[in-house]
Amino acid sequence: MSSLNPLKALPGTKLALMGNEAIARGAVEAGVYVVTGYPGTPSSEVIMTIQRYGGDLGIYVEWAVNERVAFEIALGAAISGARALATMKAPGLNVASDPVISAAYSGVDGGLVILVADDPGPHTTQTEQDDRWFAKLAKLPTISPSSPQEAKDYARVAFEISEELMLPVMLLTTTRVNHAVGEVILGEFKEPRRYKGFKRDPPRYVRAGMKWNLERHKWVDQQLSRVEEVTGKHGLNRVEGSGDLCIVTGGAAYNYVVEAVESLGLSGMTRILKLGLIHPLPARFILENIEGCRKILVVEELDPFIEEELAKMLYRAGLHIEILGKHAGWLPFEGELNPVIVREFIARATGVRETGGAEPVKPGVEIPERPPPLCPGCPHRFTFIALRSALLRNGFKPSDIPVFGDIGCYALSVNPPLNSIWTEHSMGASISMAMGLKIAGFEKPVVAVIGDSTFFHAGIPSLIEAVHKRVDMLVLILDNDIVAMTGHQSTPAWSRTETGRETRGISILELVKAIGVDNVAVVDPYNLKEAERIIGEYLVRKGVNVVIAKHPCALEERRTKHVEPYVVDAEKCTGCRACIASTGCPAIIMVEGKAYIIEEDCNGCGLCVRYCQYNAIVRRER
Ligand code: SF4
Ligand code: SF4
Repeated sequence: MSSLNPLKALPGTKLALMGNEAIARGAVEAGVYVVTGYPGTPSSEVIMTIQRYGGDLGIYVEWAVNERVAFEIALGAAISGARALATMKAPGLNVASDPVISAAYSGVDGGLVILVADDPGPHTTQTEQDDRWFAKLAKLPTISPSSPQEAKDYARVAFEISEELMLPVMLLTTTRVNHAVGEVILGEFKEPRRYKGFKRDPPRYVRAGMKWNLERHKWVDQQLSRVEEVTGKHGLNRVEGSGDLCIVTGGAAYNYVVEAVESLGLSGMTRILKLGLIHPLPARFILENIEGCRKILVVEELDPFIEEELAKMLYRAGLHIEILGKHAGWLPFEGELNPVIVREFIARATGVRETGGAEPVKPGVEIPERPPPLCPGCPHRFTFIALRSALLRNGFKPSDIPVFGDIGCYALSVNPPLNSIWTEHSMGASISMAMGLKIAGFEKPVVAVIGDSTFFHAGIPSLIEAVHKRVDMLVLILDNDIVAMTGHQSTPAWSRTETGRETRGISILELVKAIGVDNVAVVDPYNLKEAERIIGEYLVRKGVNVVIAKHPCALEERRTKHVEPYVVDAEKCTGCRACIASTGCPAIIMVEGKAYIIEEDCNGCGLCVRYCQYNAIVRRER
């Protein structure tokens, strides 16, 4: 990103911005007043950008405990006339789905935008969920940008559309748009739109009345029927080129289409319908602009959403034009598209000879395959090593005792050498799934492992359930006092947020005690012996036993205090690799048959020292 403040640079300025920074700017230009969400790659940088650069803009910009709460805060603000933004990644929308689906029925007075980031690939997400279906389910007008410039412009426009239609609007992106960097021309600012007024109106806001719900449903459908007309003035859909070969596309896939058409020499004969409005699809625009098309190619990420909607549209209009897309195997259903896949598809579908455009760049050096590891000095590594020792001390093999994991960086313990967690399903699922196994009749101990932020997010109800139903289990809460995996955001335990606002920090220990668990202890996993002893004891006790493994995230620790790294004495090192094999610490590599510690990466945790029989690993001398 440019050195200029992306939220304050003057209108007309051109800046190189990441898609998420551009969305943040677009929201600020639109006069957003309430911004909230839950961290999740690839959406997190929107809030981080406003927190970092917009501290004095008078905007409320805070992380919420989970996506559902975030959306409800934004909704509460928007029904009073304030402009509000809630951000989340795709599975976060599942968490927020209950209030999101009801929200259209209530409608809003201030613009309410939900940024949802889908992740074809997937790069960092448990599924390749396509939230265009969700837009349809929840009856949300949905727009989808293709570039950082559009990300900014659409973010701004989304608030206008939302206010005009009185419906929440989904701004739907994919990773390649969120994380792409491109030149963005900045626009004018509006004053933040705050509370205007909120009147009691039960038919609108109370979903207990079935007659009211029916009336509101009719109202929503009526509003949805106006989306194409209302969005028309914003130029979200456009036609590029002319010819009887038509390609319908949108989002990140549009960029691959443009590149492919050009490289295949099809520019003069191809008509590209670039759709920015995704739900409802702009039927009038499409039908007007496909006149004379010989066949229609549909290029889109994830599911064949446009393809299927288009097929229905043509059928209803009595048009018989061949559609080529994911159905019938022209493009893959799974995985992310890229320029090569799209070029090959267009070449095959048009019968044009492949002239061999740009191939993906291959790195000049061989990069060895290795599973993603926990960071050097990560306290979770200690906890998993302590857990393994505790299992062995109690006479169990690691393969005897299921370890239910949860969403967070500790899930990387699934990889060698730790080989710890057995499952990682969804936020908060570790405790409830462990409970399910016990209820089903599993007789040995079970372990649930959950991070601090995930515990706040969705683990508390599961723990209540386990305690209430008196199920025996060990729950390890890995408390590194931060949302580490998504870029180090605050948790409800913080008593001051990123914007410097003083809050009331919530104690996990007090929460756990209040829920009424049978035993709870706090250990520092760096104290491996103590951690191993307590985990071993709690593993076999009756009841719900909680161990809070509390130590700051290693990366955060390095930022805030001086750490003295370790080094390998090459004279003593035999090259046995025990230090690497036992810890999996990525700061240790092999160089010419000897272990070598990358000093800049070493967190000085000392774990590797325990595994070197030759005393070859020592503190670096100052
Ligand atoms: S455990 Fe010790 S001897 Fe073996 S490779 Fe590591 S540093 Fe060298
Ligand atoms: S002390 Fe050893 S295990 Fe710890 S971070 Fe440094 S190299 Fe890794």
